[in-house]
Amino acid sequence: MDNQFIMQFFEWNIENDGEHWNRLKQDALALSKAGMGAVWIPPCAKAAQQNSVGYDVYDLYDLGEFDQKGTVRTRYGTKAQLIEAIGEAHRQGIRVYADVVLNHKAGADATEKFLAIEVDPNDRNRELSQPFDIEGWTSFTFPGRGDHYSGFKWNYTHFSAVDRDGLTKRNAIFKVYGEGKVWAEGVDNEKGNYDYLMSADIDYNNEIVVEEVKRWALWLIETLHVDGFRMDAVKHIDEGFLKGLVDHVRGKTSPDFFVMGEYWHADQARLNRFIDDSDQALQLFDVALHFRLVEASRRGRDYDLTHLFDDTLVSTNPFRAVTFVDNHDSQPGEALESWVEDWFKPIAYAMILLRKDGLPCVFYGDYYGINGGPASKKAQLDPLFYARKALAYGEQVDAFDHANVVGFLRKGDMEHPDSGVAVVASNGEEGTKRMAFGPERAGRTFFDLTGNRGETITLDQDGAAVFTVNGGSVSVWADEAHRDWASRE
Ligand code: CA
Repeated sequence: MDNQFIMQFFEWNIENDGEHWNRLKQDALALSKAGMGAVWIPPCAKAAQQNSVGYDVYDLYDLGEFDQKGTVRTRYGTKAQLIEAIGEAHRQGIRVYADVVLNHKAGADATEKFLAIEVDPNDRNRELSQPFDIEGWTSFTFPGRGDHYSGFKWNYTHFSAVDRDGLTKRNAIFKVYGEGKVWAEGVDNEKGNYDYLMSADIDYNNEIVVEEVKRWALWLIETLHVDGFRMDAVKHIDEGFLKGLVDHVRGKTSPDFFVMGEYWHADQARLNRFIDDSDQALQLFDVALHFRLVEASRRGRDYDLTHLFDDTLVSTNPFRAVTFVDNHDSQPGEALESWVEDWFKPIAYAMILLRKDGLPCVFYGDYYGINGGPASKKAQLDPLFYARKALAYGEQVDAFDHANVVGFLRKGDMEHPDSGVAVVASNGEEGTKRMAFGPERAGRTFFDLTGNRGETITLDQDGAAVFTVNGGSVSVWADEAHRDWASRE
């Protein structure tokens, strides 16, 4: 089995030109050749704002098909273009994961009057008022779509809270009042209970809602033939509902249907608790590792690289960790800005792509560049992709024994010719690391796939050598047999 990795195929600032699904279609062949096994595409449902990235979801059944919110297409294109792009990705052997936003809805068609209780934004369990009438944006009737695909219309009984009262024209957190209206269980305990995030929060204590959303999930899979979900904001969604949804989808499609969740928390214990409580139903992004990488990139040589993987999800639960360096939220200027500085990016990517643990997810903004921001790092990433695809197999031997220069080696396997790789990274001066592949590789010559070092290194009779690295850099040493890697398919 070849190593897999995912690309997050969008960044926050990509052009609002309706051409993004076409970009995926055009690039599918190149991405497949680069080794991508899967892409995570941005939210594809009609959003409240045409120019938004899509997390302010309005109509889950409008994938760029109906004239709603002043537009047929979404920021990314039309439903027909999306289906074509997914078809092309599949032809190139790339699986497609949909970004599923199920915590909230935005852009309601009309307001409704209903009873609500204002709660403390910092402690959602603390009620600040008696029930009183508010006017909230909770009526979703989808006039542009009508009853196509689903006749379900949303009203305030389907939500747990809103953030705006039209009567008093105030913004606050207004919890819907009524029988069975309680915050979700199994959400993050920050702010007392972190069920509420934004807009109109969907109430999964309401069985009617649960059934409708389960039905939608299968409709989406049948319509787009996606191979997995990236689930947004899972720390704000009822855990029992999430697990039930995943079980339902896997029961109706395949037990291998892939699901990864976004649980934005730097503490691996919190991530692991969620994974345990959801009976291992979801993979999670390794947010803990992301923050290690951020810190290392900011502190430069003052950071002790031997601690890079301490208390991360990938080190504590390797089979459940989706490792990543940055994403659309952590990129400069965005909600969770925590950018891994550019000088450290090649080291960070070598650390997630070439080690044995974790499923890596590469950020579009790093590969293609960010519109109006940091430039493309394609030239630095392509050799790492090749190394992941062709070389990074077999036993892993760590040499995390120096604060500023660390290394590890993959010994290779029989299935991948001349595989194996020696990785050395430095956040300080130029350095070296002695590592051994074993006597069966004695006499082989190695070169630096990244091109950062120009020399070749010949292994001694034990298959060992002193591998070099430049200051503040990474080198990926590979057998000379792979010298022509860039021209290989
Ligand atoms: Ca929620």
